Amino acid sequence: MKKIHHKVVFFIFMCLSPLILNAKYSDAMYEKDTISTSDGDLIISFIGHASLIFEFKNLTIHIDPVMQEGDYSKMPKADLIVITHEHSDHFDLTAIKHLTKKETKLIVTGECVHSTEYLSNAEILKNGDKTTYNGIRVEAVPAYNIKHKRHDGNPFHPKGSGNGYILTFGDKKVYIAGDTENIPEMKALTGIDIAFLPMNLPYTMTPEMVADAARTFKPKILYPYHYGNTNTRDLINLLKDNPETEIRIRDLK
Ligand code: ZN
Ligand code: ZN
Repeated sequence: MKKIHHKVVFFIFMCLSPLILNAKYSDAMYEKDTISTSDGDLIISFIGHASLIFEFKNLTIHIDPVMQEGDYSKMPKADLIVITHEHSDHFDLTAIKHLTKKETKLIVTGECVHSTEYLSNAEILKNGDKTTYNGIRVEAVPAYNIKHKRHDGNPFHPKGSGNGYILTFGDKKVYIAGDTENIPEMKALTGIDIAFLPMNLPYTMTPEMVADAARTFKPKILYPYHYGNTNTRDLINLLKDNPETEIRIRDLK
């Protein structure tokens, strides 16, 4: 009798396991934060490195989706895809193709479009350009290196090529910095509620540079991202006397 009971339980588990495993993949595999805005909740999923998902009012917005951070064939299709620049840890056509449905809108930089015909319908934003998508304001802002350069003397990210973005959801402004240093344009930002700032060498910022930026433009919440092997504790220590900014560490190596 007991033996039959076990068999029944095992049979039910085997029938349900694809559902259970699938649900786990899509819902619980990535950390999520919920931010309340004047126009409903903004849910942020942290895929990894520079890849994020924003869900807002039935819209799914993917930031810098790349296959090296997640299996985008299994992720929710995009209403909007936003790409900061053409480097392979930010721009991956395979991920974009998995996420694209008929109505998907793409916002990219000029360098992304140069590399492929596929993006001929994408909207290109240059530093300073603004657009609106379903009530969400998208502003492209500069992202570049001043200090960190390649051996040939050129910056990893030349001024004017890549974008950071400020996305406005209801009354909340979210700044996704892209690959940049603590440039004057960043330090001049005002009213930023949530900031994603990159923190790896040699391509972006040291913890000291991130701390300097945070002390200057004072985001309410700071997510260091794109941090590779940088110790996030260094940033927490540098900003421990700075209660204006809440630092949130998520799995964004
Ligand atoms: Zn880059
Ligand atoms: Zn990068």
